[in-house]
Amino acid sequence: MSETPRIALITGANKGIGLETARRIGQAGLRVLLGARKPALGEAAAAVLASEGLDARFIHIDLNAPETLTSAASAIESEFGRLDVLVNNAGITDRADGSPGRASPEAVRRIFETNVHGSLAVIQAMLPLLRQSSAARIVNVSSGLGSLALNSDPDWEFSGVKLFGYNASKAALNMLTAQLATELAPNDIKVNSADPGFTATDLNGHRGYQSVEVGAEIVVHLALLSDDGPTGGFFSKDGANPW
Ligand code: NAP
Repeated sequence: MSETPRIALITGANKGIGLETARRIGQAGLRVLLGARKPALGEAAAAVLASEGLDARFIHIDLNAPETLTSAASAIESEFGRLDVLVNNAGITDRADGSPGRASPEAVRRIFETNVHGSLAVIQAMLPLLRQSSAARIVNVSSGLGSLALNSDPDWEFSGVKLFGYNASKAALNMLTAQLATELAPNDIKVNSADPGFTATDLNGHRGYQSVEVGAEIVVHLALLSDDGPTGGFFSKDGANPW
């Protein structure tokens, strides 16, 4: 009798780091649900992974449309009865973001709406399903730009990148990681933040100097953590990041 595969949901999986994360998790033998807000793009990405022999399918998830989260949770509940891995990957930047003295307040609100409120809403929608898993993992895709310590270090490589909305949204996501990890420890659910590093994707006009293969590395590692792995941490592929 074949074992039921573990089920992983990756948000924003139609491209970039999310798609590569889905591919690698699928290659590890999990069934991957590719969350995307645009069905045509999500279907196309799932078809690519399926053509590579992976157990992949599209699921409609728009972080800014709560009804899609409820529907996705019901669909996963009725088909699988549980969720083993949730990767909160979807995220945005905004051209009108900037340093605190310059950022458009509306842009800051838009960024928070997706990166913080949207990620929290996905977690809350999926939590009952994650609690049904024997060893659930949650990965919040953060950024080195979300580190308060690094933002305060004038010698840091990216110290010139003072995007208040984006950086603060990832700092808030890190707070979500720290608090949720404590809350879910009694349920053996591990929650960690991943810093992919500066990766060439649409998010930064492909200026990142890493490939998505490298960017997805730490995300995949944290999604597939063994039982003795950490929880409540913030990691890049090079090790622990300062908060
Ligand atoms: P990307 O190629 O622009 O991918 C972002 C993904 O998020 C897309 O699939 C996008 O969907 C999706 N998304 C945006 N808003 C959404 C919403 N409301 N609902 C559902 N999906 C939504 O960028 P990426 O670089 O792969 O980014 C992935 C994650 O890594 C983000 O959280 C980003 O902040 C983080 N990160 C990236 C870097 C980097 O250097 N690239 C560094 C550190 C952290 P659409 O295609 O429909 O827009």
